[in-house]
Amino acid sequence: MNNLTDIQNKFVSYIEKIMISNKLSHAYLIETEDSSTEFPLVLLFVKMILCPLEINKCDKLNCSKCNVCRLIDEKNFPDFEIIEADGNQIKKNQLLELKDEFQKTSLIGKRRVYVIKDAEKLNPSSANTILKFLEEPEENIIAILLTRNRYQVLDTILSRCQILTLNDASMMIRYDDEIALFIKYLFNGKDLFIHYKEILDNILVDKNKAKEVFEQVEKIILGYLGGKLNSDYDLTIFKEIEKKTLLKYVSIIEEEIPKLVYNINYKLWLDSIYTRFVEVC
Ligand SMILES: [Zn+2]
Repeated sequence: MNNLTDIQNKFVSYIEKIMISNKLSHAYLIETEDSSTEFPLVLLFVKMILCPLEINKCDKLNCSKCNVCRLIDEKNFPDFEIIEADGNQIKKNQLLELKDEFQKTSLIGKRRVYVIKDAEKLNPSSANTILKFLEEPEENIIAILLTRNRYQVLDTILSRCQILTLNDASMMIRYDDEIALFIKYLFNGKDLFIHYKEILDNILVDKNKAKEVFEQVEKIILGYLGGKLNSDYDLTIFKEIEKKTLLKYVSIIEEEIPKLVYNINYKLWLDSIYTRFVEVC
């Protein structure tokens, strides 16, 4: 683990950033072609979540200082479980056992982590079980799902996870990047339609995700208008846009988002909100 590739470095600095800024999500899906060679990176992520030492005091890549990291490396730490397919499938029972186990109070730490290898091997009933787990996230339980191909994982599961792809450095998708990219398309009107499929596949994958992204965009616009600079995003694009126009975007978001609660056709809703944005810019 000493010579990291570009993409591995990017991954490590990304997880460092989320740990330091305290923005850990409840569920991650890591897409990687070869989960056995990348597994040390996954363990590193787990160690960063569970290690009791301060992030800068513990060299988690080669942590020799702390017992927790050692036990994680040996896959012997009680607050860390790995689920692997039993044959060709991950079975419902395996997940129910995990659920039972994690419902007991931890004797050691505050957080617990489970890793599901080959998430595409979840069958319909085990997928349903894990979905319930992901839909009612407990504060202290973190899920990490691994897959070779995120397109083989159920959409309903994907939409609950932050997706990190290790297949290709230029594809590394992170939440901040997603938002930044979406802002770029949003304020360049036609881009919303030109990149329609890309946005649908990666960013606005479903109603819940759309709500989350638009609310974030609204917050960024209002923050910008209020003079607050957000270093996570490049906001130079806003400088070319009149304040009046930015406020129109905000009102469109505020009018359209509540409609998502109703049982509407999501794609029709998307077309209509896109059309409204294009008319403004
Ligand atoms: Zn440690």
